[in-house]
Amino acid sequence: MSKSVMSTACAAAILLVSSLGVHAQETTIRIGTGGKTGVYFPTGGAICRLVNRSTADHGITCTVESTGGSVYNLKAVRDGTLDFGIAQSDWQFHSYNGSSRFEEDGKDESLRAVFSVHPEPFTVVARADAGIKSFDDLKGKRVNIGNPGSGSRGTMDVLMAAKGWTLADFELATELKSSDQARAVCEGKIDAMVFTVGHPSGSIKEATTECETVLVEVAGAEVDALIADNPYYRTATIPGGMYNGNANETKTFGVGATLVTSSKVSDETVYALVKSVFDNMKRFKRLHPALGILKEEEMVKDGLSAPLHDGAARFFSEMNIN
Ligand code: GLU
Repeated sequence: MSKSVMSTACAAAILLVSSLGVHAQETTIRIGTGGKTGVYFPTGGAICRLVNRSTADHGITCTVESTGGSVYNLKAVRDGTLDFGIAQSDWQFHSYNGSSRFEEDGKDESLRAVFSVHPEPFTVVARADAGIKSFDDLKGKRVNIGNPGSGSRGTMDVLMAAKGWTLADFELATELKSSDQARAVCEGKIDAMVFTVGHPSGSIKEATTECETVLVEVAGAEVDALIADNPYYRTATIPGGMYNGNANETKTFGVGATLVTSSKVSDETVYALVKSVFDNMKRFKRLHPALGILKEEEMVKDGLSAPLHDGAARFFSEMNIN
């Protein structure tokens, strides 16, 4: 090749590279979410959509994985199988502190908080014909207590322990994953399901439109004590009129959904993800109805017990959000 042909080829290559915005480092990140009819899965999808709109600027491609839920995600972020995960605030606390479900694994000192998202009331849905008016009426019934690995199941176990219940207190305790439980309720295979989830959610919509169901109140002395003793629990209500056949609000307790990562994920990657979401907050809030109520000043602190990742902290301080 002559010198001039070669330099033309080089110049063309350089031009191509700069016009494509190609980066020294192309990174693919994976966010662990939950079942497809929950709110984690579409929330992860919304985050990735915003990240992927500006891949040309930062070189990051974002993908979402449907998983078993919070506890699975925290373990996967800990061992590096996932870069990010959505997790309930109670399980973020326990993973960081090595308590409860995470006692055997020990503290995850590499766990980092990124931001919080929507509130998640502990939600109990029962068949209207099952005679279940309050949480205590679940005794002796057929109940889906949730799949191992879900945050819902973990929180159900905590509540059962607070009440002194064991699995023997149910006629049947199933471990269906969140996306299968509404169908099981409506097919009459179980009387009730529990799901710690944002509202509105596809799963609760399914359970309240495919058959006659009621949302069940979760209150009383044990619930009050859980809220009083633990920073990550709060009272919660599911608004009336949100779901078919449930005109009145339902009292319960709840946690918050949070996005977590590991200190091993680079500052640049976390900064780019946070910037993609916060620079497009209006759009983010429109991507799922459960996200519509988010407030930036709450997202940077509520329900976050692990330290903020440095990349997130840098963005928040540059934007003066705290
Ligand atoms: N909070 C649930 C869990 O951790 C998941 C909720 C959802 O999928 O939106 O298992």
